[in-house]
Amino acid sequence: MYEILNQLKEISYNLYWTWNNDVYEIFREINDEYWRWTERNPVKFLETIDENYLYEMIEKKNLKEKIRNSYIQYKKYLKEKTYFQTHYFKTEKPLIAYFSAEYGITKCLKLYSGGLGVLSGDHIKSSSDLGLPLVGIGLAYLYGYFTQYINSDGRQSELFEPNRFEKLPIHRVTDEDFSPIKISIELPGRTVYAQIWEFRVGRVKLFMLDTFVDENTVNDKRITDILYGGNIEKRIEQEILLGIGGKKLLDILNYDIKAFHLNEGHSAFLCLERIKNSIEKYNISFNEAKQLCYYSNIFTTHTPVPAGIDIFSRKLMTHYFESYAQNHLKISFDEFFNEGSLAGTKVNKEQFNMACLAINNSHFLNGVSKLHAETARKMWALPDNRSQIESITNGIHTKSYLSYISERVYRKNFGVDWLKHENIWEKISELPDEILWRMRNDNRRQLIKFTRKRTSNKLKTLKATDDEIQDALHILNENALTIGFARRFATYKRGNFIFTNVARLKSLVLNSERPVQFIFSGKAHPMDEGGKSFIEEINRWTKDPELHGKIVFIDNYELDVAKELVKGCDIWLNTPRRPLEASGTSGMKVLANGGLNFSILDGWWAEAYREENGWKIDTISEDMMTDIAERDLFEANSMYDVLEHLIVPCFYERDQRGIPTAWVKKIRSSIRNLAGYFTTWRMVKEYNEKFYTKVS
Ligand SMILES: *Cc1c(COP(=O)(O)O)cnc(C)c1O
Repeated sequence: MYEILNQLKEISYNLYWTWNNDVYEIFREINDEYWRWTERNPVKFLETIDENYLYEMIEKKNLKEKIRNSYIQYKKYLKEKTYFQTHYFKTEKPLIAYFSAEYGITKCLKLYSGGLGVLSGDHIKSSSDLGLPLVGIGLAYLYGYFTQYINSDGRQSELFEPNRFEKLPIHRVTDEDFSPIKISIELPGRTVYAQIWEFRVGRVKLFMLDTFVDENTVNDKRITDILYGGNIEKRIEQEILLGIGGKKLLDILNYDIKAFHLNEGHSAFLCLERIKNSIEKYNISFNEAKQLCYYSNIFTTHTPVPAGIDIFSRKLMTHYFESYAQNHLKISFDEFFNEGSLAGTKVNKEQFNMACLAINNSHFLNGVSKLHAETARKMWALPDNRSQIESITNGIHTKSYLSYISERVYRKNFGVDWLKHENIWEKISELPDEILWRMRNDNRRQLIKFTRKRTSNKLKTLKATDDEIQDALHILNENALTIGFARRFATYKRGNFIFTNVARLKSLVLNSERPVQFIFSGKAHPMDEGGKSFIEEINRWTKDPELHGKIVFIDNYELDVAKELVKGCDIWLNTPRRPLEASGTSGMKVLANGGLNFSILDGWWAEAYREENGWKIDTISEDMMTDIAERDLFEANSMYDVLEHLIVPCFYERDQRGIPTAWVKKIRSSIRNLAGYFTTWRMVKEYNEKFYTKVS
């Protein structure tokens, strides 16, 4: 028994379990309530649960064999020959460093706010699967993004809950004498220290810098206290820590990094630190050093609008970088400040723009979908004699979003190693109607069960009546066409779009023969009153006497809720104002679970859409010049038309077996054509082949 427990502990300290349904099942079987209570944190679970009870449950539920098997699988995973080894070479030392301000790996590590973080997390997971010699660098925020509660009046309220790093499946990095390794950075008039937390994500290491150490003043400790919060000084100090501190960490660890990947502009100060090091090492000029580093920096932009980019004032930059420019980079402050702008573009020359800094210093540039790369090329209009912005479309880490039900179907029909087979998605799409349709029904029922329980529990905390709490256990219909909309409530995503014409919406929802139901989820940024008012509006509609129980809002959209939603929804709806959705990834997460997409042709869907794969909402025009109200109305009408005339009939037209054959046919095409391509496996391979292995 002792050995079994140790195996379970060993697995729990590698975030490999976050995409492993079998490990989840072990904890669920021991005690599901408790597993949820720990926010699915196995370290907290194992540390706090009564050991005798644990042994008892392992015996009683016959889990020994399952634990042993998971352990063997885990060990095998770490050792097996990978894509990188097969196509390139074997190396123990990391050669690629990936920098990102947020990482979404699993719910209990609150170090992400939305799509950018989830993408970084998936990049790391797929790098592990592919065996890339890559390390990730980020910041260990004490408070990540907030926990969302919807009040009884439908308003979002925000609660900040701290990460407790010592109770998380991570380690502090220490030297041979077990004392914590620390890096230091220079800020005006002082030195600031940071300790390092190491996450193991399969084969890949992820390092997070944390300023809560004794050497720092109270104020400096708080540099990493919160993700995307606080004033502009905190923002620049965090970015100095990420870019400059991150580079120092790689040096302390003695890594000989060949390729530096900047995921968005937050880490762009890294470029300066690399130049500084080269100037010192080779005794060369700023321009020579810049040239030397240029061919090994990779910059990925995610932002189709200037307002989304970090900018700092001249005054602020003078305060933080005047002496750095003169003493370390050996250039005048004016010359230095120019690095933060681009000739020929519309950026304000009086501001230091982090995307410009990254673009000026990176040979390899990309946007995150074909359409976004086009938008970015127009936005930045780079001179012809330099490298241009390419496109590498985003993806998702398939296993992280695959339901246990879907995985079991694939395993049963294609063997345990199904996902490793080439052309697996073509084979999967050949599964008979009955199997695919049963998988859909089972997935949808699970989501509805989850939603009922969650709603009922929430009502308990709101001190609702017993009747209301009971009533919540009967909301939604297990067999109805279920449409999901979940994402950040940034206003351009138009979270309230389905309510444009409530009469048309009601005729869809209240149709007794062919009912449609909606599940919403998502957070608005605490400062975004527009986004918050959308949330309030939806929550008001959930209480409408006719719509109640047919339109539901789930609080606190995070990775755990996302996984439930993407497995269960029949349709994943997305309604951004084109071209503001650079890629979007949540729609990709439904593919392998048999969900279908219905969206504006923006981001990834603009290149994925074909009639056989799903549905589109028509747009009036590509440019942003058209009157917004006119455009909204046109697109909303298109949305209702497609729902009424195409989607609903397709879902409800059944053959004698009760199967909607045309619908299942679409699922099959969507899986075959899209599920293999829109993954971070394909994406990371592209980064590797186009960029990482081309650096010099
Ligand atoms: C996938 C995901 C996102 C990103 O979704 P978009 O479609 O890009 O908006 C955001 N938050 C969570 C929790 C996710 O799982």
